[in-house]
Amino acid sequence: MDWQSLGMTSGAVLLGASGLQALGAVVVRRRRIRASRRRYEARHAHFDQQLQAAFQWARAAQPALKAWTGTRMFRVSAVVDESVDCKSYYLTPADGRALPRFEPGQYLTFHLPTDPRRRSLVRCYSLSERSREDYYRVTVKRQGPPDLQSALPPGQGSNFFHERIHVGSTLEVQAPQGAFFLDPTDDGPVVLIGGGIGITPIVSMANSIVRQQSQRKVYVFAGFRNSREHPFRELFHSLSEHEGLQLDLSYSRPTPADALGRDYDHRGHVDVARLRQVLPSSNFRFYVCGPAAMMESLVPALLEWGVPESHIHFEAFGPASVRVGRQPKLEAGPCEVGFSLTDQQHTWTGEHASLLEFAESRGIVLDSGCRAGNCGQCLVNVSKGSVTHVKKPGLPIDDNHCLTCIAVPEGDVVLEA
Ligand SMILES: Cc1cc2nc3c(=O)[nH]c(=O)nc-3n(C[C@H](O)[C@H](O)[C@H](O)COP(=O)(O)OP(=O)(O)OC[C@H]3O[C@@H](n4cnc5c(N)ncnc54)[C@H](O)[C@@H]3O)c2cc1C
Repeated sequence: MDWQSLGMTSGAVLLGASGLQALGAVVVRRRRIRASRRRYEARHAHFDQQLQAAFQWARAAQPALKAWTGTRMFRVSAVVDESVDCKSYYLTPADGRALPRFEPGQYLTFHLPTDPRRRSLVRCYSLSERSREDYYRVTVKRQGPPDLQSALPPGQGSNFFHERIHVGSTLEVQAPQGAFFLDPTDDGPVVLIGGGIGITPIVSMANSIVRQQSQRKVYVFAGFRNSREHPFRELFHSLSEHEGLQLDLSYSRPTPADALGRDYDHRGHVDVARLRQVLPSSNFRFYVCGPAAMMESLVPALLEWGVPESHIHFEAFGPASVRVGRQPKLEAGPCEVGFSLTDQQHTWTGEHASLLEFAESRGIVLDSGCRAGNCGQCLVNVSKGSVTHVKKPGLPIDDNHCLTCIAVPEGDVVLEA
């Protein structure tokens, strides 16, 4: 090769090399741009998710914004036996329009025409399915008379459902509401605890998490008497196949046919001792719903275990007098409670659980429904003085009003009732 062609060749090589270098730089730059775009998109998606969750939270806290006002008619499209004394009712809107979404844990309020001579009976039932556009589902346990006083009548609302509501029946229903729901802004590990019929909102929560295909670790503790009183058995079975979900079943009074290890995991109630056996620590968000006795013992025990109050969310299906968590200090002492519409005044000495009970004990009839601060039927105007709600109301209440079923006076008050 002569000098000329050598020069041309090395020139071409140099040109090629610098061309390759330039091409490499372009490729690297493109890669960087793509990576930065991916990072931007991921950040954007995360932001969107957070925004969506915050929006969902705001909507859930303001039920009036997302659903209907007053009542809406629903048709019962199916009734399913879930256990010996529980039935699920599938409800489709009679107007055929889409259903607003709800947060898992919320409930519906029903106006039940139990007696044509009286005003409708108002009762709340938790939504026991995840949110869907085509139907809502509630699951109702038939309430018998209290054990020791069997001369008393059985539960009115639940027996009305079991005896008089069938496929094709229509029901008057208020929009989903309630302050007990899975925090949509939080995707950390959770512990869901349901006892007896308190399992209904827990099932909705567990089902929603599983449906979201989330990687979230979920512990579900469920407590029933035995297999006969254990609703949603198949659903539980399929939920427990989800990788992130661990189910722990307690039976307090197993039947001779119930086998430990096969049908249930623990004999006894769901209590903190059991939680400590199963959970690696107390560092979880807890959602608890169950009968009065369970709530009264479990919630304080969780606090004692060191779970911060803000990590414990609970709903008690029982009356407002169920004492759970830390109660506000109620040291009003004797004070005067005036009822302006009936022109009466009585001395409150603190022996009643609520102003509703107090009024009834004095022969004053006030409207009421769930007696647990959820349905809004006992809402009255406080025209003078102030009151405290002993638990968080399930619906938004402005400063001049109170729910008498969960309110106690802070001093002399006058109620427009
Ligand atoms: C937010 C919320 C969600 C709920 N979700 C569900 C749910 O998903 N599923 C469900 O089944 N329930 C749920 N409940 C409970 C439900 O609302 C009712 O309280 C329940 O069905 C009992 O109502 P009832 O009308 O049948 O009984 P009630 O007529 O209110 O009677 C209740 C009990 O008192 C007894 N009784 C009757 N008369 C007397 C008397 N004079 N003295 C003493 N005792 C008497 C009855 O025998 C019965 O055992 C929920 C409650 C709330 C607040």
